Amino acid sequence: MANVVLSNVQKRFADGTIAVHDFSLEVEDGEFLTFLGPSGCGKTTTLRMVAGLETPSAGTIHFGNRRIDDLEPGERNVAMVFQSYALYPHMTVGENLAYPLRKRGVPKPERDTRVAATAKLLQIEPLLARRPKQLSGGQQQRVALGRAIIRDPDVFLLDEPLSNLDATLRAYMRAELVQLHRRIGKTMIYVTHDQVEAMTMSTRIAVMHQGRLQQVGPPSEVYERPLNRFVASFVGTPAINFIDGRISATGDGLAFVGDGLVFPIADQVGGAESGGGRPVVAGIRPEDVTIGGGQPGQGDAEVLVVEPLGHETLVVLRVGTSQVVARAPARSDVTPGQRLPFSINRQRVHLFDAATGDRLG
Ligand code: ADP
Ligand code: MG
Repeated sequence: MANVVLSNVQKRFADGTIAVHDFSLEVEDGEFLTFLGPSGCGKTTTLRMVAGLETPSAGTIHFGNRRIDDLEPGERNVAMVFQSYALYPHMTVGENLAYPLRKRGVPKPERDTRVAATAKLLQIEPLLARRPKQLSGGQQQRVALGRAIIRDPDVFLLDEPLSNLDATLRAYMRAELVQLHRRIGKTMIYVTHDQVEAMTMSTRIAVMHQGRLQQVGPPSEVYERPLNRFVASFVGTPAINFIDGRISATGDGLAFVGDGLVFPIADQVGGAESGGGRPVVAGIRPEDVTIGGGQPGQGDAEVLVVEPLGHETLVVLRVGTSQVVARAPARSDVTPGQRLPFSINRQRVHLFDAATGDRLG
């Protein structure tokens, strides 16, 4: 059993910095859970507390029903992979893989068997006799993963392991890691600031901001139902559009009344709202903005910028005083300076309280 349970964990460093506040989360056995958030939000610190490289200032960490936050790192049976691969330059790949076993006194015949099996799993068999500097970045990363796998840990901790790779290789390694997780079925906690990695690889995502957990859920839920403005802004490319406005009562019920945009919102806010002019922010994803004719219009907007990306086109519109990005098909016949009708998919608009940033409804 290797579920990981953090309960009210806090980390206060000697200089008074509180890097992690009251953090509670259960990572399920066999799950691929990602800590996602911007640089400095406390991801590494949290992971290091699980590894035993930092001691929590408050709270507890359990693996199953075994409390581990007071154990030495070596007693936890976790393996950590870092952004820097930290391979031993003077050892061959085979020796690097065998090293954690040698340190534990595993006899040579068993070491050889496990090195061979790990090399096969990661498809690095032809590289066993090479030294790290004779490997590409992606190959080095695989060896670093191999060195973690060979110990057969209960929990894998991965801290931005793909950040040093170029974009193409990163995309390839994402798929590799997902397959690896499927094959070995172990609990993995993965840290990244890259929302694409989080969205594509994770069973669940834990979004962090300023040392606090913001939302935990499967990628689709975090995307479709962000619990606050921060989560909405951090997940999704191109980023979600925000438009300031108020909730107002109209003849047809409650409406969002924003600069250059008015639409009914009874579905989103339910009966609790009075329509008394509460300041809100509407979050509208670029794919929920449609430009061009044929739709019941929300109005007209000026086209500011057209960005053809090959497989699609991004169109920046001026709506009131805001800029709104819309996703349009490839080869869209749109030019800057045009005025075009646009509409939004109002069922999919997210509303946030302007003061707290919390989701409404
Ligand atoms: P992330 O991995 O999300 O980028 P970190 O966990 O590395 O964030 O850091 C979280 C916060 O804690 C940052 O403000 C960082 O400056 C601070 N921090 C990290 N390590 C220490 C330390 N040893 N002493 C004081 N502050 C630290
Ligand atoms: Mg970090």
